Amino acid sequence: MKDVSNNYDVIIVGAGPSGIFCAYELIEKKPDLKILMIEKGRRIENRTCPKRTTKTCVGCKPCSITTGFAGAGAFSDGKLSLSPDVGGNLPEILGYDKTVELLKESDNIYLKFGADTNVYGVDKQKEIQEIRRKAIGANLKLIECPIRHLGTEEGYKIYTRLQEHLLEQGVEMAFNTMVKDIIIENNKAIGVITDKEEICYAPEIVSAIGREGSDWFSHICENHGIETKVGTVDIGVRVEVRDEVMEFLNKNLYEAKLVYHTPTFDDKVRTFCTNLPAR
Ligand SMILES: Cc1cc2nc3c(=O)[nH]c(=O)nc-3n(C[C@H](O)[C@H](O)[C@H](O)COP(=O)(O)OP(=O)(O)OC[C@H]3O[C@@H](n4cnc5c(N)ncnc54)[C@H](O)[C@@H]3O)c2cc1C
Repeated sequence: MKDVSNNYDVIIVGAGPSGIFCAYELIEKKPDLKILMIEKGRRIENRTCPKRTTKTCVGCKPCSITTGFAGAGAFSDGKLSLSPDVGGNLPEILGYDKTVELLKESDNIYLKFGADTNVYGVDKQKEIQEIRRKAIGANLKLIECPIRHLGTEEGYKIYTRLQEHLLEQGVEMAFNTMVKDIIIENNKAIGVITDKEEICYAPEIVSAIGREGSDWFSHICENHGIETKVGTVDIGVRVEVRDEVMEFLNKNLYEAKLVYHTPTFDDKVRTFCTNLPAR
């Protein structure tokens, strides 16, 4: 086991959006902090999927689509839902107003790094009112949510700029490196052990491991006797309909957020990540 120039102020495990924004905020507020990000995937420019040429998955380990700088959604359409009424449970944890403030801050960072300034779902009030009316008639609730659309190519460029920015600000990044254990002493996390048998220490360790690392992290917590809480799991079902069905919604809202509560068990069902047909 080798001790790598071990003393950091903060170690962030995972370079998805959570890890990136954590590093960004820390270095903005305290430029002298010595920060290490450890990511099991690749740098953003090395994230390529062989399936594009082989047409079948060759089972890369780790997978370039789900791991690496920018995390799980790096190659997604990149829709930013700018309302606390959709997405995770931050309003319950931090309060509604604080969530609004943080959404604004994060959106401003995306804008600073080149996001499109256009926001969908806020103008066209006449059409939105018409959609709301039809939704009520179908027992659906329309959630009003401004959407900023990054787009796959632009999103990739924005995250590339963020990677460069963090490196320029002195954030160290260890790619192709998986954290396999966390060192705990006197009930406090003080360091990490990587799959390269390196040990790094820091008084603050942030676990930003996303869905990709959730199994691993729950085992780590179990081994160290750390209590965990089960969060909500959303199950996505892909439904394809003719363009005519979605055209009015997509044209006026870009992504319509519609919620339905099932009569028997009151399960919440919602639309998400609706896509336009390729034209
Ligand atoms: C196909 C797809 C499309 C999406 N589209 C959108 C969208 O349009 N808009 C939107 O808002 N959200 C979208 N999402 C969701 C969004 O990508 C996630 O909410 C976001 O990536 C979560 O960020 P995160 O940093 O918490 O986790 P992740 O992005 O999963 O990042 C965690 C990182 O930690 C690394 N890691 C895990 N364990 C370890 C370990 N032990 N050691 C080192 N590194 C580790 C992983 O490699 C990963 O890179 C989409 C997701 C997918 C999969």
